[in-house]
Amino acid sequence: MNYRNLFEGIDSLVKLENNQYALPINFDNGATTPPLKSVVDIVNKNIQNYGPIARGLGQKGDYCTEEFEAARDYLLEFFNLKNSNTHTVIYTKSTTEGLNLLSKVLIKNKDDIVLTTRMEHHANDLPWRYAASVEYVETDTLGRVRIEDIERKLIKHCGHVKYVAITAASNVTGYINTINKIAQICHKYGAQIIVDGAQIVAHREVNMLGHNKEDQIDFLVFSAHKAYAPFGSGAIIGLKDDLNSNNPFLKGGGCVKGVFDSYVTWEEVPHRLEAGTQNFFGVIAMAKALKDLKEIGFKNISDHENNIKNHILGEINKIKNVICYGDIQNTDDRLGVISFNIKNKNYEEVASYFANKYAIALRCGKFCAHPYVDRLIGVTSSISYIDILDDDWKIGMIRASLGLYNTIEEADKFLNILEHIANTNNQII
Ligand code: PMP
Repeated sequence: MNYRNLFEGIDSLVKLENNQYALPINFDNGATTPPLKSVVDIVNKNIQNYGPIARGLGQKGDYCTEEFEAARDYLLEFFNLKNSNTHTVIYTKSTTEGLNLLSKVLIKNKDDIVLTTRMEHHANDLPWRYAASVEYVETDTLGRVRIEDIERKLIKHCGHVKYVAITAASNVTGYINTINKIAQICHKYGAQIIVDGAQIVAHREVNMLGHNKEDQIDFLVFSAHKAYAPFGSGAIIGLKDDLNSNNPFLKGGGCVKGVFDSYVTWEEVPHRLEAGTQNFFGVIAMAKALKDLKEIGFKNISDHENNIKNHILGEINKIKNVICYGDIQNTDDRLGVISFNIKNKNYEEVASYFANKYAIALRCGKFCAHPYVDRLIGVTSSISYIDILDDDWKIGMIRASLGLYNTIEEADKFLNILEHIANTNNQII
């Protein structure tokens, strides 16, 4: 199946360093994704005719308010929480903002214990470090987080862990964590689960309701720009009562019932946590992208992406001098996120070569997950960097991350170039 015709902007030629033009291959979907055509259409249509949301009277404002709230209802439905009495949707600008907001609103005491993992993106690590008492669940030699280790830590703290903050999928290895199972364990020990959904939402179905109250997801955060809509919108889907339990993260217009000379009464969520004028276009674009993904079907999406992922993981292993991180034998629990290095070649130079010579976009470095990348590479302290200065290829990685519009032909082109670089002894670049 080929999904390319659903996307905008992927077939425009780009200029290479030799001044020739080429059709780009985008293998950097873990960073951000191009928009669906339907998403561009809905933004174009609405940008000509917008008005204030939830403020003032008038047809344009009424229309935008209705669409804005309809998108909120759809987001609940998308995560299997249609007509939920327990959860609400808070619009944010990104996953980073969402997780920071949660750390400010949910944590009341610096001694509250939050369990997170060494697999996390900094966005699901740093906010907790500054708000709470954090403990980390380690990853194993292949880079997986083991559920037993989460349970062991929960037992160790005898029911005093308040939150377990964990990613649904890694932006480095693509490992998928079984969040409903983990939720069940958290709830058994009185903790709630906070899920970083940035990498999962565009690639796998997320069932926040679960099968019963025990395996439901308490909070999930994601960004639209990794799910085929533009930058600047995202959401928290979370428990209403808990989100109502503190002062807002941002304070200003729209989040108050009343402001008096010496005190304030706050609105209920969602408006309590949405101070200021909201990103209407971002929100309707996000809802449209999710609707379309649901219509395409997550079985079709995962079949297509798995096919390309398995092809790359199967072949990359055969290329001499290429080191691929994570498990390449058992790959069912991995999204199409493949991180690798070429022995003795600088990762930044390799990624630049792909981009400048072939218009193949990859990401390189540590992907805002320094502790995890260090563990995968085998570097665990800053001292070790000094020891390996001669081996500078070891202090970062190159990442290929797949999207729905990628093809097997693109994967083959990428593999051929990779083999060529890996087999060239001298500096190719
Ligand atoms: N978590 C994960 C797993 C991510 O991959 C990213 C983006 N790379 C983020 C959080 C942060 O997302 P954003 O930049 O949209 O806030």
